[in-house]
Amino acid sequence: MSAIDDLATELSKLPGIGRKTALRLTYHLLKQSKEQSRRLAESLLTLSDRVRPCERCFNLTEDPLCSICRDPRRDQSLVCVVEEPSDIGAIERAGEFRGVYHVLGGRLAPLDGVGPEDLNVVALVGRVSNGSVREVIVATNPSLEGEATAVFIQRELMRIATDDGPGTLVVTRIARGLPVGGDLEYADGASIAQALSARRTM
Ligand SMILES: [Zn+2]
Repeated sequence: MSAIDDLATELSKLPGIGRKTALRLTYHLLKQSKEQSRRLAESLLTLSDRVRPCERCFNLTEDPLCSICRDPRRDQSLVCVVEEPSDIGAIERAGEFRGVYHVLGGRLAPLDGVGPEDLNVVALVGRVSNGSVREVIVATNPSLEGEATAVFIQRELMRIATDDGPGTLVVTRIARGLPVGGDLEYADGASIAQALSARRTM
C-alpha cells in the first residue's frame, strides 16, 4: 500500500469523512510544507500521550482530575450523567449548570455489543454510594438507546438508595425539549438550558 493510500485509509476512519474526502485531504496535506506536516503529526502524538480520562468523572483532561472536578465553585452534590465527553462541552456552552459530571463512555447498544460492563456505571454507583450526592441528572441522548440507558442508570442508582434505607438521592431525567433521536452535542444552548431546568424525577 502506498503512503497516500495509507493516510487516506486512516483519515476515512474519522466521523463524517468518506473515501473521497479522505483522498482530497491527503492531496491537500501533500501540498503543504514539511514543517506543517510535522506539526500536525506531533500534535496528534501529543494528544494521545497527554489526554486521558479524569479519575473521578471520565471527562478528558491532561491532569489526574479535570478542571470541572477541581473547581471549588462547582456543586459536587449535583451530578449530570452524559454519554460522551463532547456532551459536557455542549452543556457547558449553555452556561446554566453548576454541578459536576459523570461520563458513561457510550450508551447501551446490545446490537453493537455494548453492554453495562462497557460503561462507567460501577464508578458512578461508587461516587453516589458515599452519600454526598443529592441529585443525579441523567442527560443521555433522547434516542431509543439513550432512553434505555437512562432507565438502566436509574435502576442501578435506586438499588443503592434502597440498600441504604430511604436515602435522599433523587434521580432526574432532562426534559424532552430536545429533538428525539438528536444528539446533545449538536443542540443549541437555549434548548439544553431549557431541558435541564425542566428535568423531572425518574
Ligand atoms: Zn472530572
